[in-house]
Parts: sequence; C-alpha cells; structure tokens
Amino acid sequence: MAERVVVITGAGSGIGRSTAIKFASKGDKVVVADFNEKGGQETVDMIKAENGEATFVKVDVSKFDQVEAMVEKTVELYGSLDVVFNNAGIGKIIPFLDYTVEDYERVIGVNQHGVFYGMLAAGRKMRDLNIKGVIINTASVFGYLSNQYTFAYQASKGAVRMMCQTGALELAPYGIRVVGVAPGTVDTPIVQGYKDAGLTDKLKGNQMRGDLIKPEAIANAVYLLSLEEADVINGSVVMLDDGYASF
Ligand code: NAD
Repeated sequence: MAERVVVITGAGSGIGRSTAIKFASKGDKVVVADFNEKGGQETVDMIKAENGEATFVKVDVSKFDQVEAMVEKTVELYGSLDVVFNNAGIGKIIPFLDYTVEDYERVIGVNQHGVFYGMLAAGRKMRDLNIKGVIINTASVFGYLSNQYTFAYQASKGAVRMMCQTGALELAPYGIRVVGVAPGTVDTPIVQGYKDAGLTDKLKGNQMRGDLIKPEAIANAVYLLSLEEADVINGSVVMLDDGYASF
C-alpha cells in the first residue's frame, strides 16, 4: 500500500500516541498534533527512533483557526491529507450541580467543537484537493452510557457520535469516509483521576476480560478502520470496548 499522510490530534499521549506509532510503523507519514509540545515531541522521537516519519505540529483543537493551520501545514509538509484522526480530548470529574459554565464550555470546546473543526477543515481540504480520505473521530462508550460526575464529557461524546453519522452522509459525495470509535476504559493518563479515587478495580471490571484496554489495542483497530478494505464501514461508531457497552 502506498504511504499515506496522517494527522492525529492528541498524539502527545495515550491513544493518540499509540496510534501515531502504529501508522508510522506501517510507513505512513504522521503529523503528531497536540497542544502539549513536550508530549508531542516525545511521540515524534519515538517514531524517528524506529525510522518512521513524523512531525510535531502544535494545535489547540478548540480553536478553528489553529485547526485550519494544522491542516495547511500538513499539506505543505507532506503534500497530501489522507487520514485525519480527531482524537484530542479532556475529561472533567465534577458533580453536576458544582459545574461552572466555564467547566462545561471547556470540555465541549475541546471534545465536541474540536472534532467539528477537524472534520470541517479536513473535509474542505480533501474536497479541494480531490482526496478520497478518511476522517476518524474518537467518541467513547460514554457517548452511549450514562455516568456520574462526567456530564459535559458524556454530552460531548454523544455529540461526536452523531457528528460521525451525519458527517459521513455529507461527505460521502466527495468520496470522504467518516468513522467513529468508542473506546471502553483505556489505560491512559485521562483515567488517572479515577485511579486516584481508588476505582481501579471498577475500571477494570468494565471490560469483559476484566482489565483496562491497552492504547495499542485501540491503535490497531483505528489503523484497520483507516484501510480501504474497511470502506464498507462508513458513518458508524465502532465500539472498541471489550464488551463494556456490549453493542
Ligand atoms: P490522554 O490524556 O492520554 O491524551 C489526550 C491528549 O489530548 C493529550 O496529549 C492532550 O495534551 C491532548 N489535548 C487535550 N486537549 C487538547 C487541545 N485542546 N488541543 C490539542 N490537544 C489536546 O487521553 P486518551 O485516553 O489518550 O484520550 C484520547 C481520546 O480518547 C480522548 O478523546 C478521550 O476522550 C478518548 N477516550 C478515552 C478513553 C479512556 O479510557 N482512556 C475512553 C474513551 C474515549
């Protein structure tokens, strides 16, 4: 397969980092996009240490102009834009009645608006360059299941789920495919707050095999979904949850 140009947001840590390493290991050129420069540069170094090709691009996905600039920079660097993984996300654990408007807006800004901005900027660029690309968005089992103390996160992931379905419909005429992934509980820094609260056993018990999911397992599935062989999967959000939600 010809090498592709892949942009991954939130690639400075966790699922995004593992996915960046996976695509690069298959010969793809990867833009490691994150607002955390240190983490992003570490991912690039890990890829380069294995003779892969990657470049760090700093972005705050909650700002549309920065997302557009990330897309421009990618095409400038590598001449194409074949796969975009809108994956950056944040959590916030607070009882509903303690929320401030700012808490809510921040989570929605990154998790929900960030995905919209990524789809819009990438979709326009793929259309203009006539690229039959793939856009993959990170939702969550929490876009389907209720959970205490994560109101904004749940709302944002539910929105991502519908953006995948509707976005696929809008972009299909241009040959652009949109897919979502809904991970279960993955062993990354985002779940540290739960671990600190002594909830590690509960987190493990969410999955059928009784353990946290490794970020590499999510990366493997995202890679498979990006392939042309998977092109019948369009507009769906695929559960990557080891049976947590059991759809
Ligand atoms: P993580 O905290 O390890 O990684 C998130 C990355 O996103 C970090 O590198 C962070 O710097 C980056 N980021 C945060 N805000 C950003 C912004 N505004 N602009 C650019 N980058 C930003 O967490 P993770 O578990 O790898 O999370 C990746 C995605 O997976 C998120 O969307 C998360 O909601 C989703 N998810 C995670 C789990 C889980 O259990 N870990 C489960 C379901 C879904």
